[in-house]
Amino acid sequence: MFDNLQDKLDRAFKVLKGQGNITEINVAETIKEIRKALLDADVNYKTAKAFTDDVKQKALGENVLNSISPGQLLTKIMNDELTQLMGGSVTELEIGKNPTVILIAGLNGAGKTTFTGKLAKYLKEKRGKKPLLVAGDVYRPAAIDQLEVLAQQVDVPVYTNRDSNDPIAIAEEGVAEAKKNGYNVVIVDTAGRLAIDEALMNEITAVKEATQPHEILFVVDSMTGQDAVNTAKTFNDRLDFTGVVLTKLDGDTRGGAALSIKSVVNKPIKFIGTGEKMEALDVFYPDRMASRILGMGDVVSLVERAQQQFDEKEAAALQKKIRKNKFDFNDFVSQIQQIKKMGNMKDLMGMIPGVGKAIKDVDIDDDAFKPIEAIVGSMTPFERENPDAIDQKRRMRIAKGSGTDINDVNKLMKQFNDMRKMMKQFSNPAAAAKMMRGMP
Ligand code: GDP
Repeated sequence: MFDNLQDKLDRAFKVLKGQGNITEINVAETIKEIRKALLDADVNYKTAKAFTDDVKQKALGENVLNSISPGQLLTKIMNDELTQLMGGSVTELEIGKNPTVILIAGLNGAGKTTFTGKLAKYLKEKRGKKPLLVAGDVYRPAAIDQLEVLAQQVDVPVYTNRDSNDPIAIAEEGVAEAKKNGYNVVIVDTAGRLAIDEALMNEITAVKEATQPHEILFVVDSMTGQDAVNTAKTFNDRLDFTGVVLTKLDGDTRGGAALSIKSVVNKPIKFIGTGEKMEALDVFYPDRMASRILGMGDVVSLVERAQQQFDEKEAAALQKKIRKNKFDFNDFVSQIQQIKKMGNMKDLMGMIPGVGKAIKDVDIDDDAFKPIEAIVGSMTPFERENPDAIDQKRRMRIAKGSGTDINDVNKLMKQFNDMRKMMKQFSNPAAAAKMMRGMP
């Protein structure tokens, strides 16, 4: 996400490195570089110009304090301005009405159906809602099937009417069904097209009028850059939507859509999709995104993702096991699964300040855990619960069973034992303190 932009902004700031003050001359050069970086990221020209003019004016108006360098000052100004550019503060979803109707709009392939599933999961698990999905794409039976599969995954019901080819009636029936059966959010997935056409716009406008939605979310593929911005503009002119959902940000290294869409259509980005899985949805926080773009990391989101996976009771039980030296391979695998649930590895590491840039070109394999899981998978239940009983003969059998090498099994056993020792030490405060004192 935003890799190239990060790199180029970094270079732009270097112009100011070693300079004692911000002057008309050195700032002009930096601003030129920043503008170039934004244009390369596929930011709309007008947006880039207005943005850099603003940054320049602010930079020249500030006195550089002794404690900070011109580079630091400019980073701060950029952080504030990027936050503003992307909408300032977070814009919450309006979900107070009962039922709340949310209409999902966008072109085919933008990620509407995927987002509908993700949103249902988010509303159910994070906001305590009881959602009902409505399959409103009457043109592609496969789209209804896809929505049903996703709905099943997130355990939320779908209203379908395969005999009807009237999306307006289906949407109305869906809302009536929700009222009747006590669902407090109705998410209507609508049909898309390959490109904008009049019939599509008329249809979705009619669905809007019939259902009077509280939120109309426009879903768009961020990888299409300026096209995404133009499509957003056309949809907004007709639909007057309430928010934007930018999908596939995990594959978009330029980030132009995220940076320009708010200033062009003047509607907030409410969510971003960062993967195909149902968990890969984030509420959009302009300030956190600005920090990420500037390579300052996004620790807040990282901690939040960790907290989502954190179950206090489970953690207490685990602590007890560690203290008693009973941590076994079942616990080990369940820890790996929790980490995996937090999302894509590279994306997670990118949230750590300073790390994003460092691992930009490193290929981080999300399947890195696979051999470990295969090895543990080849252990018998007895072995998993009694790691100390795994002798050489058992190791040979495990290697064979998991299609790995005996060295891989030995390595994993050593890592596991080292980890267990360390965890035990840290779970005992007195021992941990003793160990710390022994450190150089
Ligand atoms: P629709 O035609 O608008 O309903 O689009 P779909 O929901 O069918 O999505 C089209 C494709 O994009 C599917 O293969 C999805 O798995 C994929 N997709 C959707 N959202 C994301 C995302 O945030 N990241 C990635 N990498 N893929 C996504």
